Amino acid sequence: KFITVEGPDGAGKTTLINGLTAKLEASLKVPLVLTREPGGDPIAEQIRRIILDPANTALDPRAEALLYAASRRQHLIHTVLPALTAGHLVLCDRFVDSSIAYQGYGREIGEAGILAINEFATDGRQPDLTLYLDITAEEGIRRIQANRSEADQNRLDVETIDFHQRVHQGYQVLREQYPDRIQVIDATQSPEAMQDEALRIVQSHFPQ
Ligand code: C5P
Ligand code: MG
Repeated sequence: KFITVEGPDGAGKTTLINGLTAKLEASLKVPLVLTREPGGDPIAEQIRRIILDPANTALDPRAEALLYAASRRQHLIHTVLPALTAGHLVLCDRFVDSSIAYQGYGREIGEAGILAINEFATDGRQPDLTLYLDITAEEGIRRIQANRSEADQNRLDVETIDFHQRVHQGYQVLREQYPDRIQVIDATQSPEAMQDEALRIVQSHFPQ
């Protein structure tokens, strides 16, 4: 099964995934493959470095969207699909929904173009389940400023609050479009409560 974790910056994806991994491995009978994008494969990680390099201020929004899609395909073909074929459970930090939210809404490229290039990149492959961590743009930014690494903060400084609000709005549209696939977790809860809720959702979606 292919499970993705999504949410705006500061929602706590990394914390959730780190905490959830051990609990999932204990409760499921199949091996768990933990991965992330952009990246998750050596070539895809090289593409990630180009995308996330703060020095690349001249990166055109559509070029950026294409790099995300290229990284995604490389990762899908070389990491995700082989693991799924082997019967493993794949837990992936971000997937196409992030591009709809960040590039489609945040960068205002629009949903249609982002969907088209990602359809090409993924052959239409969708996650079986998406855990969406919901947090407002303001609260997400407040958290990053309070606790995260300098690298995260530098990147955050590049984007405006409007950008993060559009990203959040994009996720709300996705929730309405895919109410079955996208399961919402309130990211204002404690990390432990979020892990427990995530575990319950996964277990109820994939009863053993
Ligand atoms: O998921 P993570 O927080 O590691 O993402 C790294 C950065 O890439 C974040 O600042 C996020 O806003 C950005 N990003 C993006 N578009 C995507 C995925 C991530 O702008 N499609
Ligand atoms: Mg993170």
